[in-house]
Amino acid sequence: MGAETLIRSHKQFRKKYGKKYSSLFQKLVEEGQSPKTLFIACSDSRVVPNLITYTKPGDLFIARNIGNFIPPYNPDSEASATPAVIEYALSVLNVENIIVCGHTDCGACKSLYQEIPEDNPEMTNIRKWLRFGESAKEQALALVGPADKKSLYTATEKFNVIEQLKNLLTYPAVKRKVAEGEIFVQGWYYHLDNGELEYFDPIEHRFLPVDAALRKAEETGLMRDEEETLIAAQQ
Ligand SMILES: [Zn+2]
Repeated sequence: MGAETLIRSHKQFRKKYGKKYSSLFQKLVEEGQSPKTLFIACSDSRVVPNLITYTKPGDLFIARNIGNFIPPYNPDSEASATPAVIEYALSVLNVENIIVCGHTDCGACKSLYQEIPEDNPEMTNIRKWLRFGESAKEQALALVGPADKKSLYTATEKFNVIEQLKNLLTYPAVKRKVAEGEIFVQGWYYHLDNGELEYFDPIEHRFLPVDAALRKAEETGLMRDEEETLIAAQQ
């Protein structure tokens, strides 16, 4: 899809949604944004956060990168986009939820099993960035071995969500707010082919269909209304 096509699409957007959303757009400018959720997802073109959560402009503060990786907190590291998004979401926007969303058929997770030559200047940043998926790769190899590629990739994608949740908890603001019950953090696994969604249950230590999360929420009353809305939108 070229730039010209995108401009034509934009005109369609104005025509179709301009009126429908004009009051919302105005309100979001006048009052500023106050999204309740930080959504961390892969850059994959098939993962579209607002679409899959059935949300509107202003609802999600979004960080997307290759592999939905979260570099562990490091005050001495070079400036990096995803850590800055996390800090802004917590310290300025005061989000109440953080979703880390992995997905099936993730090219980043597959790339962990391919060698990228160190002397290739056109892939330098990809090679460096993929190190944040190494731990997931090691765990997947240990669990399912290298023979069955489909199972290996699925395991890698799921371990990756768990590992990134751990990395997220290395950020001082995240750690403090989770401990004080001010934010709720959850890992998701989205199926590209049919739109189904699983979430990571830290007590059972496995991924479960989101229906189970809703049932549990009703039983325990632990989840907030906003989170229920987000997940309900997947049904
Ligand atoms: Zn991906």
